[in-house]
Amino acid sequence: MSPRPLVPMLIGVGALLGVGLLAAAPSSAPSATPSPAPKLVPPLAGRLVVTSPFGWRWHPVTGQWSRHDGLDLAAPVGVEVVAPEGGVVTRIDVAGGERGAINGNAVFVRAPSRVWAFLHLSRVKVALGQTVRAGDVLGASGASGRVTGPHLHLQVTSLGGTPIDPTGLFPPGTFVTRSA
Ligand SMILES: [Zn+2]
Repeated sequence: MSPRPLVPMLIGVGALLGVGLLAAAPSSAPSATPSPAPKLVPPLAGRLVVTSPFGWRWHPVTGQWSRHDGLDLAAPVGVEVVAPEGGVVTRIDVAGGERGAINGNAVFVRAPSRVWAFLHLSRVKVALGQTVRAGDVLGASGASGRVTGPHLHLQVTSLGGTPIDPTGLFPPGTFVTRSA
């Protein structure tokens, strides 16, 4: 008996495997590296100082307990407010208008999985329906609407309208609480 017939057979298997691996590589490459979730851009430059947290609070203007569906961030009038992520401007409230009575000048941006709102602005620099990218300037902070002083009210809701605490969307340490 001669072992010779085995040699060409093994070469044949090796060649088949080699061809198979080469053919599989290009199609498997794109799914092997899923893109990470994009990092959100803080809406204001510098430290984000929370002057009123998300949740129930004694309202400074109405003098009643009410739910605060956003975060109040310290900001003097005129600080640039930028989009934390890309989206479409789906609503603009105007100070003095019906909805702007409380919100003041306000910009709402619908992102893929949530809606951002920026209230009490001094200026609005985007238009209804405009597509914005993360970091684009939306307007400037102010004291329009029902406020006791200038600040940025940052509000986030799910696409279904459920309020979300914005602090949970950014890395730990992004927000600091002003000590009384
Ligand atoms: Zn607020």
